[in-house]
Amino acid sequence: MTPEEFRQTGHQIVDWIADYRANVAQLPVMARTAPGGIKAQLPGQPPQTPETFAAILRDLDAIIVPGLSHWQHPAFFGYFPCNGLPASVLGDYVSTGLGVLGLSWQSSPALTELEEVVTDWMRQMVGLSDAWSGVIQDTASTSSLIALLCARERSSNYSLSRGGLQDEPAPLVVYASAHSHSSVDKAALLAGFGRDNVHVVPHGAHYAMDAGALEQLVEHDLAAGQKPCAVVATTGTTTSTALDPVGEIAAVAKKYGLWLHVDAAMAGSAMVLPECRWMWQGIEGADSLVLNAHKWLGAAFDCSLYYVRDSEHLVRVMSTNPSYLRSAADSQVKNLRDWGLPLGRRFRALKLWFLIREQGVEGLQTRLRRDLANALWFAEQVRAQPDWRVMAPVPLQTVCVRHEPAGLEGDALDRHTLAWTDRINQSGRAYLTPAILDRRWMVRVSVGAASTERAHVEALWALMREEAEGTQR
Ligand code: PLP
Repeated sequence: MTPEEFRQTGHQIVDWIADYRANVAQLPVMARTAPGGIKAQLPGQPPQTPETFAAILRDLDAIIVPGLSHWQHPAFFGYFPCNGLPASVLGDYVSTGLGVLGLSWQSSPALTELEEVVTDWMRQMVGLSDAWSGVIQDTASTSSLIALLCARERSSNYSLSRGGLQDEPAPLVVYASAHSHSSVDKAALLAGFGRDNVHVVPHGAHYAMDAGALEQLVEHDLAAGQKPCAVVATTGTTTSTALDPVGEIAAVAKKYGLWLHVDAAMAGSAMVLPECRWMWQGIEGADSLVLNAHKWLGAAFDCSLYYVRDSEHLVRVMSTNPSYLRSAADSQVKNLRDWGLPLGRRFRALKLWFLIREQGVEGLQTRLRRDLANALWFAEQVRAQPDWRVMAPVPLQTVCVRHEPAGLEGDALDRHTLAWTDRINQSGRAYLTPAILDRRWMVRVSVGAASTERAHVEALWALMREEAEGTQR
């Protein structure tokens, strides 16, 4: 493909995406594809001769798009918002088009320095002190793994330079609540702590970690000869956006020398709003935190911001220095390969830079406030309706609800919940994700797709009533 052909096809692709975004509301939100349905339409062997772009685009329309669930649809209320705003999409194109890699500062100086600048912009935007330094990882899963590796190495005085965890005299323990994300559990297991040493801290009525119970557990483990190492607190749990009391947990962490990692993957975006910062009050007492700009904020996936207070420790744990990556500038610059797992680094900062500049902090704040108000409005409607219940506090944009008609409980209630949700999802008119809370199914309504306005939330509420209450007739 010549640059001229690229220009023409590229314009076509941009038009295609613009049309997709303009018309996505007309499509069924959830894919209606049966397992294997897409593969069955694709040849099993690669083409031996070149194909035209027209043919590729035809298959995109005919095969791929019908096999998608549409996250940018205004009636997408599933999982969490993952808003790739157009400005950020364009930043991602530029990154791909430039095709540069950040192996070291010298391999692409602007890649490293723009990342330093935008992570510092974001630090200011979410109200963190300048004691924090940031870096962009792919996902919160990776960020939490890095946090627990750093915790392990601090508690074991750099065991990786000796016999590793296998040589430690006492087992190192990680603490999290049952409502922490599965990625925390996975990170602890992959970091070598072992299932037996991941201790679940009880939570209170609102699904937030009980800091007093954490302290008791730590005392108990110390008495049993174990070594408390790290605690992971969540600001905005996945199921119900519960808020672990970061300040109280930080006090326990400080008293016992635990590493405190805060998983604010989803709720971190809300800290752009000063009125939401009480939600992670005490954050300055943490050692590390993650917030996913690729969720609600609007950066195209993937863009997970990982912040640490002691960047020297991070670099000491992660650093590699083979001769072919050294440069004369090394003593004056950051080599971001030492701030995470992979050597090769995409120019992710561009998509965040484009987004923040095109929206301005005020533009981002306005949209987040719109979504918070829509979620509150929705919760009020549910509370006002007999037989409907809001299952958890609503500090953010996720509302956990259940339709509880008289006489239905236990497994029968679960079947009812799953049935009406499935009817909605199958209808293609909205997309919801049910989840288990207190051992029973309920439905999470996650408001916040960039295109979701009040009218879409109103339509969802009407649809939910129709589908859930209709079954009782
Ligand atoms: N932590 C929380 C609180 C989340 O809500 C999620 C995603 O749903 C994750 C972590 C995992 O995020 P990622 O897909 O970036 O690993």
